[in-house]
Amino acid sequence: MTSPEVSCERDRSAVKDSEKNNPLGPLGKARKSLKAVNAQILAGGYTKGKRCLETFSVVSFSILSSVVLFFLCKNFKLSEVKSITCASVAGVLVADFCSGFVHWAADTWGSVDIPVFGRAFIRPFREHHVDPTAITRHDIIETNGDNCLLTLPGLLYMVYRYLTFDQETLQASYGVECFVFSLAIFVTLTNQIHKWSHTYFGLPLWVQKLQDWHIILPRKHHRIHHVSPHETYFCITTGWLNYPLEVIKFWPCLEWMIERATGVKPRSDDFRWSGKSE
Ligand SMILES: [Zn+2]
Ligand SMILES: [Zn+2]
Repeated sequence: MTSPEVSCERDRSAVKDSEKNNPLGPLGKARKSLKAVNAQILAGGYTKGKRCLETFSVVSFSILSSVVLFFLCKNFKLSEVKSITCASVAGVLVADFCSGFVHWAADTWGSVDIPVFGRAFIRPFREHHVDPTAITRHDIIETNGDNCLLTLPGLLYMVYRYLTFDQETLQASYGVECFVFSLAIFVTLTNQIHKWSHTYFGLPLWVQKLQDWHIILPRKHHRIHHVSPHETYFCITTGWLNYPLEVIKFWPCLEWMIERATGVKPRSDDFRWSGKSE
């Protein structure tokens, strides 16, 4: 059986051959063709094992989040609406920041060639820059599997608390539980919202309204990230934090510090797949 690393290396030499033998001549056309080949290779890196993990994550998330929601409804008190609202909005804001941080880290550092992790978790980010429309063809499992996986430990711990802690302790931490649940739901919804921001036809009217009111990531807003070299507007849940982070130059400062400490250039793997030089 061929290992993923060997297979990835073989794919890469196929790209090099295609680049060398490209009959299109001019650099622009050759780059376009190389991008198409790379998009195909990256899409081909979606393995059966990854699909199984994603299916497990989506099913587990559905069960655990339903259990947590049941307990939250059971302990709900009308008098606490204000603190529940604040906790939920805080959850959305933290989810937006996390979406930006994970997206920035995967776009900027690491490589598809990292054994197992690279092909499973960095590959989708490279594919998305080389072929931004591919996400619109992903089904519910491929779109949401990774994000569901991220929230499983938190949800599992919440279920454990509900099943073992006494009522008084649970009531005292109700606000914190609303925050964690809101965070888990919006982290999970992030890639679905991201997919909607790339979908130009057939979106339900309520999704379009949420985008127009900027409650979730609007299509026009996300287009800013897709301008090469993809170095800003990384937040993809609501996108609320993109402008403030841009103003304080949050991402360039982080990149400067990491490059200074490690000597590694940001986005070098992303440039390699999109056929661009830094
Ligand atoms: Zn990106
Ligand atoms: Zn995108």
